[in-house]
Amino acid sequence: MIDLHCHSTCSDGSESPASLVRLAAGAGLSALALTDHDGLSGLREAEEAACSAGIELVPGCEVSCAFSPGSLHILCYFVEEGDGPLQSQLERLRADRASRNERLVARLNELGIEITLEEVAAEAGGDTLGRPHFAAALVRKGVSGSYQAAFDDLLGKGGPAYIPKAFVSAEETLAAAAGSRALTVLAHPLSLSLAPPALESFVISLREAGLTGMECLYGRYAPEERAGLVRIAERNGLVATGGSDYHGSFKPDLAVGVGRGDLEVPDSVLSALKERRTA
Ligand code: AMP
Ligand code: FE
Ligand code: FE
Ligand code: ZN
Repeated sequence: MIDLHCHSTCSDGSESPASLVRLAAGAGLSALALTDHDGLSGLREAEEAACSAGIELVPGCEVSCAFSPGSLHILCYFVEEGDGPLQSQLERLRADRASRNERLVARLNELGIEITLEEVAAEAGGDTLGRPHFAAALVRKGVSGSYQAAFDDLLGKGGPAYIPKAFVSAEETLAAAAGSRALTVLAHPLSLSLAPPALESFVISLREAGLTGMECLYGRYAPEERAGLVRIAERNGLVATGGSDYHGSFKPDLAVGVGRGDLEVPDSVLSALKERRTA
């Protein structure tokens, strides 16, 4: 079994890349993809840990693209730190995120909440800060009663401290990934909030733009949802991939490899991806 979707402290997970790899090895997985949001900075540590633990690391990331009203995330696989169009795109997204975090601090201060970027950074293990770390800091300071309350009352979409992020289009990410010789997979397709026929036409258009797979076996999906997505993927020549979307204590219902306990992503999924890579 494998897990092709996990977050570490280098984005909004609670486990370091090395500890994530050890969890995966402990769960008996043969391969793990590290897919931190908008960044590749955890890959080196994960690669070293995977080498010691004797499991395969698939280097990756997850890019948030513009889409309304739902959200569109693209998983990129077989991408390393270095030069290339995808790496440059990630660099731009990270710069935008840094300026957004500063505006978010300013907005909270305007609302009478005293909080500093240092306090938020203290909640993160890496250099990528996002709303989850703001939520954790607000809880620690006693401003919000819970992580969820911080989103409901302040940080969530439409809330008084909501600052939208800069987004790239899916087409831009697919093109940049192709230029960096990475493979792309549509993450958790149901978050697009499209009915099955519309979802199918949409993934066909993404496939024409370079998409290789669709994440059908997703940690939080029901068996019948996964089966429906696998049918769409198979009908359209997309690799049906899967992963837990593990975030450690930030999503405590999900475990590496097994999601809520019923996730099984076979090794053959990774073989199918690799075949597309050489094709
Ligand atoms: P960011 O990339 O900084 O906008 O943060 C996005 C992350 O915040 C998501 O991956 C979720 O983990 C979390 N998040 C966003 N909206 C909510 C919400 N309404 N309730 C709880 N968590 C949320
Ligand atoms: Fe995340
Ligand atoms: Fe996602
Ligand atoms: Zn994710």
